Amino acid sequence: MQARFFHSLAATGLLLSCVTAYGFARKPGDPLKPGFNLFSKEQDAQLGTEAAKEVRKKYTIVDNPFLQGYVKRVGDRLAATPEARASGFPFNFTMIVEPSVNAFALPGGPMFIQTGLFTALDNEAQLAGVMAHEMSHVILRHGTHEATKAKGVGMVAALAQAAVGDKSTMAQVLDGAISLGANSWMLHYSRDAESEADALGARLMAEAGWDPAQLASFFLKLNGAGARAGTASRSLQQFLSDHPNPENREQAIQLEAQALPKNSYGYNTGDFDRARREVQRIPAPRPAANPSGPAR
Ligand SMILES: [Zn+2]
Repeated sequence: MQARFFHSLAATGLLLSCVTAYGFARKPGDPLKPGFNLFSKEQDAQLGTEAAKEVRKKYTIVDNPFLQGYVKRVGDRLAATPEARASGFPFNFTMIVEPSVNAFALPGGPMFIQTGLFTALDNEAQLAGVMAHEMSHVILRHGTHEATKAKGVGMVAALAQAAVGDKSTMAQVLDGAISLGANSWMLHYSRDAESEADALGARLMAEAGWDPAQLASFFLKLNGAGARAGTASRSLQQFLSDHPNPENREQAIQLEAQALPKNSYGYNTGDFDRARREVQRIPAPRPAANPSGPAR
């Protein structure tokens, strides 16, 4: 009885969070599609490539072929899932030296995994879950969807002019979007966007063979640690503010996982423990490398 009540509560949360995005209730297991977007997919890729150059200037790239190879193997496996392949985005994965617990992806596919993330992970499935969540923001084009919402009227005017042969206004809008810089693509997704990235992320990791329940456990653990608070958890607070907690996040991920075809989720590269040990050996970032602190 109580369990049923709990489930219906979770379902209500999902319903409320999805109504605004779709205009109708999304059920666990239903397909997810990108929202309204005036940028083209090519422009997503162009914006992401430009922003990734900034990230590479700002951070120290991890100088360890094993670790870069490890996140690439995990990422490539997620990128080989049907939804990721259908997106057509050229995903790539880079580890950067940054002690706060986070990972982020830019429009069109570049993903950055911070060394600090490994301090909070229990296992490879949780790493795959965070990366699948980030990949889902890319597939669902949340960055340029948010930019479309922010710049809507100006973009419609620019597109109208482009349609009658004046491409310059659209080029200006694109230049403006590029000049927003990397930071603007990395933060403040809506709670709806977070719910969608959780749902699609759970599906991608499951299709790749990792247990989606681990994504729910990871968020549960971070929220618990964040709630216990104190200055020691500042980097956790950072992660939680970059990924605002949708209603019933853990239950929603579990419902999504239950709606997937049964799977044994036995996949593991076997290299997670070594990766975590190697991350611990990485020296702190050069002070000059991050002049303005961690990216938000
Ligand atoms: Zn997110």
